[in-house]
Amino acid sequence: MTMMQPDDWIDLNRGAAPNCEVEGGIAAPVPVEGIRGRLTAKAPLAKLVWFKSGGAADWLFEPADLDDLKTFVEKLEGQLPLMALGLGSNLIIRDGGVPGVVVRLGKPFAGVKVTGKTSLECGAGASGILVASTARDAGIAGLEFLRGIPGTVGGFVRMNGGAYGREVADILVDCDVLMPDGQLITLPVSDLQYSYRHSALPDGAVVVSARFEGRPGNPEEIGAEMDRIADAREQSQPLRTKTGGSTFKNPNGCKAWQLVDDAGCRGFKLGGAQVSEKHTNFLINTGDATSADIEGLGELVREKVYAKSGVELQWEIQRVGRR
Ligand SMILES: Cc1cc2nc3c(=O)[nH]c(=O)nc-3n(C[C@H](O)[C@H](O)[C@H](O)COP(=O)(O)OP(=O)(O)OC[C@H]3O[C@@H](n4cnc5c(N)ncnc54)[C@H](O)[C@@H]3O)c2cc1C
Repeated sequence: MTMMQPDDWIDLNRGAAPNCEVEGGIAAPVPVEGIRGRLTAKAPLAKLVWFKSGGAADWLFEPADLDDLKTFVEKLEGQLPLMALGLGSNLIIRDGGVPGVVVRLGKPFAGVKVTGKTSLECGAGASGILVASTARDAGIAGLEFLRGIPGTVGGFVRMNGGAYGREVADILVDCDVLMPDGQLITLPVSDLQYSYRHSALPDGAVVVSARFEGRPGNPEEIGAEMDRIADAREQSQPLRTKTGGSTFKNPNGCKAWQLVDDAGCRGFKLGGAQVSEKHTNFLINTGDATSADIEGLGELVREKVYAKSGVELQWEIQRVGRR
């Protein structure tokens, strides 16, 4: 097998044969033979996530298509950790970067097809807004809530993304998942064991597509509901900032934002990170925050909330990588 070293860089779209002659030990090789996608060593991730902070992936892989991804994962033989990345709307990438391979599903995985009167098949790289508007145009109701969640189908399926009383668990029929050993399997919704913003999807598993089921609806009414959702978001959330969405899960029976507010944390700052004045369950990067600032601020907020109310807030935002 041809392997590449993390210190090498190659754009496989150019068809160049990789030069893998590297002296010394192999720190973290990746397979390249027969791979058609784009593979980048030490790839900065900050520009790919909403917070715009954090370090680099040892490797970033942007597969050309599903076969390409499958071949890559099979050849990797589980030797390196693998993590899927969507739009990075729910992620703190730590400043030391992410070990192993980050897989980013781009355009080849971003299609949405209407497959029946009330059903859709979506690539895992498709955005929530594309899924919701395709459903609207086909007169499929029940997926409007995806209009307001700025992520991809893969992220929604893993996180059980939801809003306005609806969540992915309510619309998912099944999904195709590439397991870390290279097996492609179809998981019915029941296998994901969904709970609030959580699924049982194993680490390293990459969702590649998902089938959703809605109900018959009127495109105008669906469109009006989507507009209402977009307006409500605009009013209540710091959408045009560098943020990661809701920081903490809502504990049973209460709202995380209320607990944060009651603990006096509105506008609270650490380095370049701040608790949003507009929505206290959002942390924002005011400009040059490091991920350590953002995560540290979150931990300070957790301490203050615990001291005030005795509630231990749980992170909703995924924090990954080396500190
Ligand atoms: C302004 C704003 C508002 C938001 N509002 C909401 C909301 O109302 N409701 C809500 O639920 N969330 C909300 N979020 C959070 C976020 O949009 C969701 O969690 C979304 O599901 C993340 O999708 P993503 O594709 O960007 O995933 P990422 O943030 O890139 O990743 C999140 C997690 O999903 C995993 N993942 C991503 N793609 C895949 C894949 N293909 N296969 C397997 N795992 C994958 C990642 O490894 C990571 O663990 C908001 C975020 C922002 C910034």
